[in-house]
Amino acid sequence: MKQLIEHALIVTMNERDEVIEDGSLVIDGNRLQYVGPASGCPRDGWDRVIDGSRSIAIPGLINAHNHSPANIFRGLMPTRPLEIWRAYWRAALRACSDETFYVSALLGAMEMLKTGCTTNLDHFFGNQNSRYTGAGQAVRAMRDLGLRHVVALTVTDRPYEATIPMETPKGETGDEVGRMTRAETKDTQDWLDEIESFMGELHDPDRLTTCCPGPSAVQRCTDELLQGAAAISERWGVPLHIHLAETRSQGLMGPKLYGNSLLKHLDDLGVVKPNLSTAHNVWIEPEDVEIIVERGATPVHNPASNLRLGSGLAPIPDFLAAGGRVGLGADGACSNDSQNMFDAMRLAALIHNTRDHDYRRWITARQALSMTTRWGARAFGLDCGVLEPGRLADVVLLKRDTPAFTPLNDVITQLVFCENGSSVDTVLVNGEVVVAGGRLTKMDEAALTAEVNRLYEPLRPAIRKEMQDAAVMEPSLSEMYFQVFG
Ligand SMILES: [Zn+2]
Repeated sequence: MKQLIEHALIVTMNERDEVIEDGSLVIDGNRLQYVGPASGCPRDGWDRVIDGSRSIAIPGLINAHNHSPANIFRGLMPTRPLEIWRAYWRAALRACSDETFYVSALLGAMEMLKTGCTTNLDHFFGNQNSRYTGAGQAVRAMRDLGLRHVVALTVTDRPYEATIPMETPKGETGDEVGRMTRAETKDTQDWLDEIESFMGELHDPDRLTTCCPGPSAVQRCTDELLQGAAAISERWGVPLHIHLAETRSQGLMGPKLYGNSLLKHLDDLGVVKPNLSTAHNVWIEPEDVEIIVERGATPVHNPASNLRLGSGLAPIPDFLAAGGRVGLGADGACSNDSQNMFDAMRLAALIHNTRDHDYRRWITARQALSMTTRWGARAFGLDCGVLEPGRLADVVLLKRDTPAFTPLNDVITQLVFCENGSSVDTVLVNGEVVVAGGRLTKMDEAALTAEVNRLYEPLRPAIRKEMQDAAVMEPSLSEMYFQVFG
């Protein structure tokens, strides 16, 4: 199938940051064949012509860190720091089943596609009653809506109480912590076998799916699991994704467990390579920044989640000053609580300004858009994120006649600081139109939300019960939290 998008304002995000005022895009199958001035566009027989004359074309946005089971818990979690919040969110997951994981992933995919996001990294953990903890359901949902996805299977093989700076809890609290451990952990070799079969069964880039290992965090995995997961990612030629030093408590576990920072320990294991992406990177050392950049790995910034959970500000300007390329994530919808990448870009470009008076290091609109396009694609070895010939045809068309772009002064600045996703009109993923006129094309939106509600309503009592059970951990976790901050 050959498609032409003509007379659009094209923001290519190519090496030269080229913006083409009156441009055309030719899509042949799932790849871009021509991106350039409309006047130089080859003539051909088109199966479809899209008039882009009042549109801005950008590469589809990339959400580089997210947890799809969280989509049904938006607005539910209390305002607490991560360690306490996590106890509630992990408890709520115990109430879910395959069909809940499916609709939760549908819901997030719908929000992302309608706001111009075409690739999602789903760092997936559901619960162990489901096959691959439910990750196959997320794959099915994102395929059904036509969202490109990288699904990193979350694995952990260390007991929860050994991964936080807390004395082994006793009594009721100990029982609940034990439940948390049993729900999440498994023997090292069992996880490695499970990742292998997950890869074998579901990894299929032609069907939009990249599968990869996603160790939960350095301190939550044995060295054997970290190295085993890295070896699998190398053998399959896929990414490796991990949480890194999100909170102060987590950062402290480096010296406690390894006598070194978490990142340096990971580097000693030989795991820090170009295919590695690390989510958060808040409580890291200046040398960690250098190592990540030198090894060509990608730090992923999650500004909304870091604010929502009070985790802190990641040293993103340091990464950029060191020549690093950064990805951007929404993180799960119960620590954000949205999946809108325009919100994420705007926050990323704003929140660092008050920490650093040196305005020359402030994050520019161009850098924020790079994080969400070409740098995100590079993090996962995907051939998208740039509009140029040969790339995958993941393209977003935004309406130009909206307040965000009127009058048009600087398109990239306005994309980052003015747009909120509501100008998104047409979205193509892999050459297929998956959003037209701002609506999903592959599923009825009203039916989708009705189905989410139908499945969620009967779950409410079980979710409430699980969260009540988890509440017994709050005093101990709260004490730990305040101790960590002295
Ligand atoms: Zn996360």
